[in-house]
Parts: sequence; structure tokens; C-alpha cells
Amino acid sequence: MSTKIERKSIEFYKHNIDEECIAEFNSVAKNLFITTGPKTAEFEKSFADYLGMPFCVGVMSCSHALHLSYRALGIGEGDEVIVPAFTFVATATAVMHAGAKPVFADVDYRTGLLDPDKTEAAITEKTKAICPVHMYGVMAPMRRLSKIAEKYGLKLVEDAAHCIEGRGPDFGPGSLSDSATFSFYATKNITCGEGGAVVTRSRDIAEKIRTLRNHGMTKSAVERHGTKIPEYDVKQIGFKSNLTDLQSALLIPQLNRIKKRLSRREAIVKRYNNGLSDIKSITLPVIPHGYKSAYHLYTILVAPPEKRDEFMTALMESGVNCSINFRPLSHFTLFREKFGMNGKDYPAATRMGYSTVTLPLYPSLENEEVEYIIETVITAAGEILSG
Ligand SMILES: *Cc1c(COP(=O)(O)O)cnc(C)c1O
Repeated sequence: MSTKIERKSIEFYKHNIDEECIAEFNSVAKNLFITTGPKTAEFEKSFADYLGMPFCVGVMSCSHALHLSYRALGIGEGDEVIVPAFTFVATATAVMHAGAKPVFADVDYRTGLLDPDKTEAAITEKTKAICPVHMYGVMAPMRRLSKIAEKYGLKLVEDAAHCIEGRGPDFGPGSLSDSATFSFYATKNITCGEGGAVVTRSRDIAEKIRTLRNHGMTKSAVERHGTKIPEYDVKQIGFKSNLTDLQSALLIPQLNRIKKRLSRREAIVKRYNNGLSDIKSITLPVIPHGYKSAYHLYTILVAPPEKRDEFMTALMESGVNCSINFRPLSHFTLFREKFGMNGKDYPAATRMGYSTVTLPLYPSLENEEVEYIIETVITAAGEILSG
């Protein structure tokens, strides 16, 4: 490392839970209802409003949101769902939890978004749904994908774990699909540690997921609370996946300040883009024309891929904590053994998956930390990467 700059230690991510969130949490902790009650209803309404969607159901994770979406859509045994070959494992395993088979399609190199042509080519008579992922906060080409879904009579379920704030030219998460699923995991743009949500245009799907998230019971705890002997029915096997009032208390203040935090992340991304644009061995993230990113992750691609781990180690040793988002699904034994997945069949996913390095990106990142990260990346690229 260059001697002129002092070593810093920079976390990969710092969450946004501040004093206001903690005050809300403390207040809810004193309420009668700490499980799913009025605070969760308030969060669901605010989240739906923010997205301009009619229905939102809070669940325990995005993985559950995906799984319950497939259940609500009647997708299961004998069915196939097309997912990108480049994504987080939960996109594929949620399909498996529903009893269906994930079928992989390659992505667009650089954006990492599901390729509509590859998607159409992967359709069989068993295909029931397509699950695009809004990688790093940029929406997948939903217009083209929804046309394909319509043509073949398929459902469309969005993995919008990265994309609360991202928008397409004339669409947002949930507006062209059967359901869009979100994550409030510890490193996501708003968080309550673990949590998730489904938004949908369909009252029927929302109601089905509301029942499925709570043991399949036809009435929730709030609805059963009162002076009469509680009566409810169970018509199908359900799950335990309801977002609680304690979690919603942490989420509401973060949702209220989401625009401010988005603009801070955008400013950091601009600085990264300027500071790193001259390095030939590094490919910067791209946002297609007309799209607005949620700026969830700032993920660069390094060349050659064989040097990725050495490069990351150098950054970490200099105090810049970074991450891999993501390895290609073909990297994992589960998908290779169960579905005979081979990285050679998905060249863009494979090339991206072995080249990604995600740099820190969160509102509380200081300007001088951003400058330090840029310096560190330039130095490490010069020493380790090609060109
Ligand atoms: C984080 C993430 C998930 C899973 O979210 P959980 O809330 O942890 O279940 C799914 N898909 C993608 C693309 C993710 O990044």
C-alpha cells in the first residue's frame, strides 16, 4: 500500500437502525400485541403506498415471500420455474421448497439481469413461472418478460430483494407481475434483522399468503382477540412466517427516510464511478437507460477472474471489507448434483460470478472512507489485476 494514506478499517455494511427506530421498538414492546398486529398493518400499508401497489403482506424473509408466492399461485410438484443462473441461492431453493424444479437461464453480461431470449428458450410444457431478479437494485426487463409470460401463460414472480427503490421506465416492482418479494435481512436497504414482504396487484394472492404465513389459519391473532370464544378454520397446511409488530416498529422509520438515504447512496456511487473509471482491469456496474437503481450493491467485475480472491484479500488486508455477490449457482454442489448444472452452459453467469467484488455502500459511509476505498482499489488493481 501507498505510505501516504493512513490505514482505515471500513465495515462492509452498517444498518440504519437509529434512535427513532429504537424508540418505536420500545414503545411497541410495551403493547399487548408484539406479534402481527396494528404496527404490521401500518407497515404493510406504508410499504404498499410507497410502491404504489394495492396489497402488501409482511413475512419473515424474502425466501419465504418467494416460497409462499409459489404456494399461493398453485405451483408445486411437477412444475418448473425459470430462474437466473446468477443470483443468490434462495431464488432457486424457494422454488424447490414449493416442490417445483428450478430451471436456469443465463443472464446479460454486466447487468446480471435475466436474459429474455434465454428465458424463452428454457420454456418447456412444464414451465409455470418466471422469477427475474432485480440484481443490485436495477429492475429486470419486465416488459419483455411479461410479454413472454403472457404468450406462454406463465406466472411472473419478482425477486425484488435488492429493489425497494429501483424503477423501470414505466414500471415498478409488482406492477407487471403476480407478486414481488422483498427482503429486510440485515444487509438490505431497510432492515429489521430478518424480515420480508410480498406486494401484489391481486387481492386473492394477498389473502392466500396472509393465510399461508400463519399456519393456514383463517383468522389472525388480532382477529381472534376479544370477548368471544375464538373460532377459525384450517383448510390447508400453512407455515409460520408472519412479520411481527416488533419488526415493523424498526422498519417504519427507515421507510420514512428511504428517499434521503437513497440519494446519499447515489452520491457515493457517483464518486466510485468517477474514481474508478480509468482502471482497465475493472468493469463498473451499468444502469440501462431509463432505469432508476435502488443502489443496493456496488459490484465491480475484475479481470482476470483468477485474481479475484487475491484482489479481495488485498482490499480486506487494507481494511476495506468487501463481498462476493454472487457466485454462479453452478458453483454449488446442490445444483450440480441435483440438476446436473454446468457453468459452461451459462457463460455470462459464470463469467460474472467469478469476477464480482462488492464494495461498501451505505448512507453512513463517510466521504473520506469512500476516498480511501477508491485509493485502495486503485493500488490493489495496479499490483494484482491485469492492465
Ligand atoms: C437477500 C436475498 C434473498 C433472500 O432474502 P432473505 O430475506 O434473507 O430470505 C433472496 N434473493 C436475493 C437476490 C437476495 O439478495
